[in-house]
Amino acid sequence: MEKDYYSILGITKHATADEIKKAYRKIAMQYHPDKNPGNKAAEEKFKVATEAYDVLSNPRKKAKYDQFGAEGVQSGGSYEGHFYEGDLSDLFDNSPFGSFFGGGKHAGRKERYGEDLRIKIKLTLKEIANGTEKKVKVKRYMSCGTCSGSGAEGGTAMETCGACQGKGSVRKVTQTLLGNMVTESTCGRCCGMGKQIKTPCSNCQGQGRKLMEDLITFEVPAGVRKGIELTLRNKGNVPPRGGMPGNLIIQVDEEEDDYLKREGNNICYTLHISFVDAVLGCEMEVPTLYGSVRVKIPMGTQSGKVLKLGGKGVPNIDGYGFKGDQLIFVQVWTPQELTKEEKELLLSLRHAPNFIPKPSKKEQSFFERIKSFFQG
Ligand SMILES: [Zn+2]
Ligand SMILES: [Zn+2]
Repeated sequence: MEKDYYSILGITKHATADEIKKAYRKIAMQYHPDKNPGNKAAEEKFKVATEAYDVLSNPRKKAKYDQFGAEGVQSGGSYEGHFYEGDLSDLFDNSPFGSFFGGGKHAGRKERYGEDLRIKIKLTLKEIANGTEKKVKVKRYMSCGTCSGSGAEGGTAMETCGACQGKGSVRKVTQTLLGNMVTESTCGRCCGMGKQIKTPCSNCQGQGRKLMEDLITFEVPAGVRKGIELTLRNKGNVPPRGGMPGNLIIQVDEEEDDYLKREGNNICYTLHISFVDAVLGCEMEVPTLYGSVRVKIPMGTQSGKVLKLGGKGVPNIDGYGFKGDQLIFVQVWTPQELTKEEKELLLSLRHAPNFIPKPSKKEQSFFERIKSFFQG
């Protein structure tokens, strides 16, 4: 079906460039996808109107269209909306949409963001296992309370920036094979505000922001590990003279525990027991990330035996799946000093039949057992 670009924009063939622009602007403002999220019909109207404007705003394309119709201006049949030879950027000045250049959803907006800030926090293994709430004091630029972030002394007027004529951005046109390419950058003189201050606020020297100490509370999910970054949106610096704050990026570090060592989501613990306890069996108190646990050591336990406390490791950060385990590596403590009586007792056992090592062939070696535990 032949598209009538004139009726799409609601204008006649005799419309001036200015009228074409106005007509498109009206439709675009009404049907812009940002204003009609999820509305397919609006999106289609916006697309068709943009296509029409792309052609009719360009004298060469318009002439072709007038002569040959829509077929004449569409090379591949499908419409590509990226290469405007005309200049759309001033179309949306002072509109909520900013300009269209850049293509991305937010690229054309004049929202200004402040810098991101980075801090490091050290967490104990217990905090990591259970998740925790943290409070940090961060020095960051926050909106000046005296001038409400404007940078202008209480109620004084602002004047239009001379460098950008109040647009907040400066345009540069470059000739390319695809036609004129327009690049826009933030005006350096007014930092994109389009306005300049006559009398700077004395509290912030016209910056509109001040370095302040902010107490920030946030949740650390269970299962984080060293190197993970948590992002707190809008807790970074406010840009000069108003805008959205950047983010606060929190880098996680782990505090070494004296006894419990993390291996992935498993926790390793070395338990030293006496030679006598190894022979006779015993019960021992073992620390875990979730409080201490009594563990039964069976009689005849060899040094190097690994016991497993299921589910006493670190949980998965995504909240599902199994927790890791705690592995207890049993070490039999060999006395390094002896009294005369102790020595005599041991000497009497030296040749006792049950004290002579007789490892069974089936018994796995120490290293194989450790390997099998890590492989689950
Ligand atoms: Zn101020
Ligand atoms: Zn300016």
